[in-house]
Amino acid sequence: MLNTLPATLLSRAIDRLLPPLCPGCDRYLDDQAPFCAGCLRQLEPLPAARCPRCALPYPAPLETGHICQACGENPPPYDGVSAIGPYRGLLRDLVHGLKFRRLPQADSALAQLLAGRLSEAARRCDLVAPVPLHPGRLRERSFNQSALIARKLARILHSNIDARLLTRTRPTGPQPGLRAEQRRVNLRGAFTARKECCGYRVLLVDDVLTTGATVAEAARILKQAGAAEVQVAVLGRAPRHLV
Ligand SMILES: [Zn+2]
Ligand SMILES: [Zn+2]
Repeated sequence: MLNTLPATLLSRAIDRLLPPLCPGCDRYLDDQAPFCAGCLRQLEPLPAARCPRCALPYPAPLETGHICQACGENPPPYDGVSAIGPYRGLLRDLVHGLKFRRLPQADSALAQLLAGRLSEAARRCDLVAPVPLHPGRLRERSFNQSALIARKLARILHSNIDARLLTRTRPTGPQPGLRAEQRRVNLRGAFTARKECCGYRVLLVDDVLTTGATVAEAARILKQAGAAEVQVAVLGRAPRHLV
């Protein structure tokens, strides 16, 4: 009987009988945790010393509520940022694995960890929306890693999701090397909102936040479409504004 089953069905059945693997190190997990204890220790949360607006980690403790220079000079249109932690080490490897190899189980595990590290305000949101890829990029890559995370996150939070609320109307090209003002100009008009979201508290999901220019432009469009609040959730927060 067994040898009449197609190989993929058979391997799927075997996978289901075995405990899940830790996406960080491929060891078997013995409980419901998203990662093994060793990997969890490496996936440290953001430090308490960070910008309350954009979650930029500060290298040294500062008084609570200290706004970073970039947010002080140019307050972003989003209301807050939550992340699993600083974008480096194992978190960076996992995000790369998810983005370029669609690392198995990484989306569920990362979404579960992110859900546990959301701010109160982010948890209260009533609509989850991912930052979209341009259709050309989506065809090349076949999936949008931010949409994968957004879907899992919405399920954990029992929240509504609209994966097509935002659409990317034009490719924006690579951003590294551009200064903050050039990034803003480069991104102007890159998104449109497919429908009004009057009064909604939106949880905007992206994979990594570096300068914040992309989520800022997406949040601006969501506020224009009537969103009452936009909270951002990302897997990794790059430690410094790389401009
Ligand atoms: Zn592990
Ligand atoms: Zn800031």
